[in-house]
Amino acid sequence: MTLLSAAQRQIQAERARELIPGLQDRGVRQLAITFVNHAGLPLVKAVPLARLPRVAAEGVGFSPVADAFGATGAIDPAQSLARPDGDLRLVPDLDSLALLDGEAGWGWLAADRHEQNGEPYAADQRLFCRDRRRALEAAGLEIRIGGEIEWVLLGDDLPTGGPYGADRLLDGLDYLGALAAALDAADLPWLQLHPEYGPAQFELSLAAAGPLEAADRLVLARLLIQRVSRRFGWRASFSPLVAADRVGNGGHVHLSLRRGGEPLLSGGAGVAGLTAEGEGLVAVLLESLPALLALACPLVVSYRRLQPSHWAAPFQVWGVENREAALRLIPGGPGEAAHLELKIADAAANPYLLLGALMALAADDLARQRPLPAPLTGDPVGQGAPRLPSDLPAAITAFAAHPLLTRVMGPLLHRTVIEAREAEVRRCSGLSDGALIASTRLWPPSERQVEG
Ligand code: GLU
Ligand code: MG
Repeated sequence: MTLLSAAQRQIQAERARELIPGLQDRGVRQLAITFVNHAGLPLVKAVPLARLPRVAAEGVGFSPVADAFGATGAIDPAQSLARPDGDLRLVPDLDSLALLDGEAGWGWLAADRHEQNGEPYAADQRLFCRDRRRALEAAGLEIRIGGEIEWVLLGDDLPTGGPYGADRLLDGLDYLGALAAALDAADLPWLQLHPEYGPAQFELSLAAAGPLEAADRLVLARLLIQRVSRRFGWRASFSPLVAADRVGNGGHVHLSLRRGGEPLLSGGAGVAGLTAEGEGLVAVLLESLPALLALACPLVVSYRRLQPSHWAAPFQVWGVENREAALRLIPGGPGEAAHLELKIADAAANPYLLLGALMALAADDLARQRPLPAPLTGDPVGQGAPRLPSDLPAAITAFAAHPLLTRVMGPLLHRTVIEAREAEVRRCSGLSDGALIASTRLWPPSERQVEG
């Protein structure tokens, strides 16, 4: 990413001016501009619509300390970003523009952060995602990503009903209808919406898209879920685990790759129909799972979710349609290419960091010979399958030692993400299991949790 030049600023301002009448017609009067920090928290500045041309060109100020806000919003002073000086420009990407709530007059934009002189900010997560997309394209590959979001409703008089139950759908019919309407109004294409296994747990699957758009959609979809849930008097929690005896909230990522328009994960002569490069992709992801965990499962409580036999898939194995495999190969239906599901990821992951890392691995030399074990069938428990790191410190160690991720993230991003994870470990040290789960029961955090 190069410097935001004077010419680029002018183009941005001009485009923004052209967008204003259409936004006014849709009732938009102000815009929420977000980025997602190292801890996975979406952070925001709002501006009046009339300021969009200037903001699109110059951005709005945001302190770099924001990446030191931890899982509950509190700042651990041991992080190098926990300091009062400096400022960045949060520059919205006009391609991401969507309706947040037309009735209330709100639009939404995702943004990248630049230095005040227009240089890219080296620890910006979305710029990292952009860069990795560019590198993947330069390697001749095209990636498509589909995201899933699970969440649990908290509050009184919640929709009741069984796992995947039509009774729960009926009990929550107005709620889910309002959510579908909000997604449609935001032009956010979705594939499925259903009651999940746990009490008051639901799931939304988003249509596949390019990586940056997919990450943006995950952010926007979560905001819409929170907004609609509040209108019904509830809170939506994306915490990996809201109660000790329940299943967790996953944030599974689906990905497929093509070279020259040809899929890598199907139509090949390899195991399960993989092409040679498709086998390379599965192998490189599989060997990097311990390091990826630090991005896919960023909270200490994330590792409480990763229990065997809970479909959270805490084993370093792959399988064909195996819901206990960390990497699940899903063969395509008629006319569809196969794709891979990363099952370990939870809903607290920063999607820009996670998708950027996945792209970095996919752009590695896929033709290089790597060991690829046979796909695993059945529950890995009792089959001698290697267990993934079972706590955040072990995942941090694997992440810190991963040469490729270290190189592509660059020193500032890599180091400050590690610092953020270490701060999360310190936050949780000494907490009982119950206190740990309670500390992020509602996530992203409520004001009450931050104050408390
Ligand atoms: N709730 C499970 C998880 O923690 C996933 C269930 C499913 O396979 O959809 O990831
Ligand atoms: Mg699910």
